[in-house]
Amino acid sequence: MRPMELKKGIAVSPGIVIREAFILDSEEIRIPERFIEKEQIEEESARLEAAIAESENRLDQDIAQLGSKIQINTQILEIHRQLVGDAVLKNEILIGIQENQYTAEHSVSRVLNKYIKKFERMDSQIISERVHDLYDVEKLILTTLLGSRVEHLDSLEREVVLVARNLTPAQTAKLDATWVKGFATDIGGKTSHTAIMAKALGIPAVVGLENISTTVVGGDTLIIDGFRGVVLINPDARTLADYRDKEANLVKLRQRLRKDVALPSETVDGYPIELFANIELIKEVHALANLNTAGIGLFRTEFIHLQNPRSGEEGHFQHYQATLKEIGQLPVTFRTLDLGADKGDGGRGPWVEENPFLGCRSIRYCFEHPDLFRDQLRALLRASAHGSVRIMLPMVGAIAELDRALNMLDQVKEDLRNDGIAFDENVPVGVMVEIPSLAMIADLIAPRVDFFSVGTNDLTQYTLAVDRGNENVASLFDPGHPAVLRLLQQTLRAGEAAGIPVSLCGEMGSEPLYVPLLIGLGFRNLSVSPTSIPEVKRLIRTIKVYECKALAKRCLAHTDGLAITAELKDWVSDKLPPSMRF
Ligand code: PEP
Ligand code: MG
Repeated sequence: MRPMELKKGIAVSPGIVIREAFILDSEEIRIPERFIEKEQIEEESARLEAAIAESENRLDQDIAQLGSKIQINTQILEIHRQLVGDAVLKNEILIGIQENQYTAEHSVSRVLNKYIKKFERMDSQIISERVHDLYDVEKLILTTLLGSRVEHLDSLEREVVLVARNLTPAQTAKLDATWVKGFATDIGGKTSHTAIMAKALGIPAVVGLENISTTVVGGDTLIIDGFRGVVLINPDARTLADYRDKEANLVKLRQRLRKDVALPSETVDGYPIELFANIELIKEVHALANLNTAGIGLFRTEFIHLQNPRSGEEGHFQHYQATLKEIGQLPVTFRTLDLGADKGDGGRGPWVEENPFLGCRSIRYCFEHPDLFRDQLRALLRASAHGSVRIMLPMVGAIAELDRALNMLDQVKEDLRNDGIAFDENVPVGVMVEIPSLAMIADLIAPRVDFFSVGTNDLTQYTLAVDRGNENVASLFDPGHPAVLRLLQQTLRAGEAAGIPVSLCGEMGSEPLYVPLLIGLGFRNLSVSPTSIPEVKRLIRTIKVYECKALAKRCLAHTDGLAITAELKDWVSDKLPPSMRF
């Protein structure tokens, strides 16, 4: 057994979990057990030789089939063929089997990953391009070796911790919390979609671990500490015992918090703070009944599309109708499709942009795909006849964009009237405030909409020019930065002047650290990740609005984010139970 190893990443979803690792590469292959018995060495070496020979054959066939049709592809396959047949590489893999008693799969992974790491560190572009080839060759030999033993995420039937370089939105949307009890990824930041999904599923997660997917081997025992942002690989007996205690205490604390969830969400001095839920998938809606929420403040409808890009008007309508049925009379704010950037294009061909977060994302994507957008608007309007629906437009940055979306909505309404289909004529329409340009003209936008909802994940990203999903700049991602606070204040003032509600649905509202500041700034309506509701409510019930106002004033007087964070930590720490402290 290897000695215990500790890896530090970014804590994105609180909690502690101890389980076996399930390695997910881009093809969802798990690399099985790593050691063999001495007497199996010969057989294992033969397995490797056979897999290499079969891989060579496959490549020869592919090359022959392709011929000179697509020259560039043939060249790539020829490089793969050379790598697969490379005697030095094969020898090293065999040494792993014979001297270290690794399984053939594990030895392949180790040797190829050693070269991948070496190549990745080199400055030469020509060499760094070979990294992709090595990944492909690794996958080819592994799939050949594993054959029918390839295990897929979809067919998991035991509790595991998922380890991956990254998870695509489609993969996260399909995760089943019955079996996936936590996850750890190489890349990602606090508000990346993977992080948001981990919170939604209520499973502990650490991201930005850089190379966890190549360090851990399937079957290793992992502790995910989603509070400290730490992953322990093959913990020693003492660490394991400590963490088992922590895990048990946490379960007790959560049970206590859940009991209080029925109590009203109000401050000690009697101000109600409405707590709504952020939802990605319909399967989360059912659990809301136990959380005593005010409704759904953000339904990220793009996940419906990502799960099935052919959902169409009817598919969306069914999801919306089912949500409304489940939630009763409570309002549901459906955000229109926020596709593009990290949320792919749902199978509509390759989506290659140099700067996808500044590209054809979200409402811009909808304008590029008007049929898709119209289908969704029709589904939303039809659903509005079945419950309290609010429509929210994401990533609006200018009045012209808002008007264009509102015009399309009017046209869809007209079509429905002509078709004699019922809908709520007064369905409220609001915008997300998540681009600085919109926050800065919030006073001009407010009279044209029914509500604002501030998306602090993107607002922070775009204000500070810090990629929300990039672990290398994660320390710069600071929602408490004075620039962000000023934009929040400006938005609140514009909303107040126009008499429209301003809520907040970014992750900032789910973090107990920021809740008193947000209340002090004037927010009375937060939409948070459902798993955060008990903690956020508990905190709300211990604070007074006048104290929060004084805190916000002090924060606004600071000139840098670090001082603001220090002020908030100081203030919030003694209001939280020890296991929830920062
Ligand atoms: C946000 O940007 O703050 C937000 C809530 O939207 P998303 O995280 O889905 O981009
Ligand atoms: Mg956003």
